[in-house]
Amino acid sequence: MFLKRIELAGFKSFADKTELEFVQGITAVVGPNGSGKSNISDGIRWVLGEQSARSLRGGKMEDIIFAGSDARKAVNYGEVSLTLDNSDQSLSLEYNEVTVTRRVHRSGDSEYLINKQPCRLRDITELFMDTGIGKEAYSIIGQGRIEEILSTKSEDRRGIFEEASGIVKYKSRKRETEKKLQETEQNLLRIHDLVTELE
Ligand code: ATP
Repeated sequence: MFLKRIELAGFKSFADKTELEFVQGITAVVGPNGSGKSNISDGIRWVLGEQSARSLRGGKMEDIIFAGSDARKAVNYGEVSLTLDNSDQSLSLEYNEVTVTRRVHRSGDSEYLINKQPCRLRDITELFMDTGIGKEAYSIIGQGRIEEILSTKSEDRRGIFEEASGIVKYKSRKRETEKKLQETEQNLLRIHDLVTELE
C-alpha cells in the first residue's frame, strides 16, 4: 500500500483544488518557509481523523479552512482526499484504490467519505487501525516527534509496537465490549432493584 495522491481544496493555504501525485519511492517536498509544506502533512493527519485543532497548528477547527488573502476571498469549506493504492489489500476493502475524504464547513458540519460513500469518522479510524497509517501511527513523524517518542513513558512507546504488531484493533474492540458489559451489568442491577421493589 502506498499513498498515490492527495487533493486539497480550501484547506489552509490551498485555496484552489491542488492535486499532488506520488510515485513509488521517495518524494521530497521543497519550498520556501511558509509556502505550505507542513500544511500537506497536516492535511494527511486531518483526513486520518485528527480532531485536535492545536495539533494542526490552529486555535479552532475552522482555522483549517482557507481564511482568505489580499488577493482572494475566504472559502466556506475545506476538503482533503487521500488516495491509497490497495492492490495488496492491506486495507480490508475489496478495492485496488481507496480514497478517503474529509470535508468541514464553516458551520462546523463535517463529512467523511470512503470511495465517495458517506461514512463515520469511526469507519475511517477502523480502516486504518493496525496499518501504521492512523493519525497517531508511526507513518507520520512530525518535527520533534522522534525526540518525543524517545522521551515519553514506556507505555506510550509500547503503543507504537502494538500498532506495528496489529493488536490495536483487538484492544479497542475489547475496551468497547468491556464498556458494553459494564452498562449491561448496571442495567441488570437496575432491573433487580425494580423487581425487588415490586415484590
Ligand atoms: P516552514 O518551512 O517554515 O516550516 P512550511 O512550508 O511548512 O513552512 P506551512 O507551515 O505549511 O509552511 O504553511 C504556513 C502558511 O500557511 C502560512 O503562510 C499561513 O498563513 C498559511 N495558512 C495556514 N492556515 C491558513 C488558512 N486557514 N488560510 C490561509 N492561509 C493559511
